[in-house]
Amino acid sequence: MQERTLAIIKPHAVSEGFTGKIIDEIIQNNFDILAIKKIQFKKEEAEKFYQIHKGKFFYDNLIKFMISGPCVVLVLSKENAVKNFRDLIGNTDPEKAKNKSIRHKFGLTNRENAVHGSDSLKNSKKEIAFFFSNADIINI
Ligand code: ADP
Ligand code: MG
Repeated sequence: MQERTLAIIKPHAVSEGFTGKIIDEIIQNNFDILAIKKIQFKKEEAEKFYQIHKGKFFYDNLIKFMISGPCVVLVLSKENAVKNFRDLIGNTDPEKAKNKSIRHKFGLTNRENAVHGSDSLKNSKKEIAFFFSNADIINI
């Protein structure tokens, strides 16, 4: 089934100049980019986006990191996009992520792992709506 998923290129990957390389990986792996924008998370927005992790030991530093500079947010479309994109980005920990995965190639640490990808179809819908209205997303 054709699905949509939400991707975020995280602050360190943007500031280190990896945006183009990561987008190229996305395109070469046959995802369609339906919407894209550069954003700067406000603290309250990052807290809302990551609210399921509130209380976890990594939460405070995750929020600090995600507001530390601009991110690039994308709506992607592909057959089984949610699982296919999670496979393309790899394990949360770049050291555990497979060699060809985006996190292995561009991630630095457990926290600075280059990209976010929605973890379920339900969450992808919520996350896409967090950043984009329907009018912002090309309908193909
Ligand atoms: P994923 O992004 O792979 O779905 P989680 O949803 O568990 O991983 O975590 C959300 C984000 O929080 C991760 O992408 C990473 O930036 C950060 N994070 C997760 N686990 C850790 C950890 N053990 N130490 C530091 N940061 C973490
Ligand atoms: Mg997650």
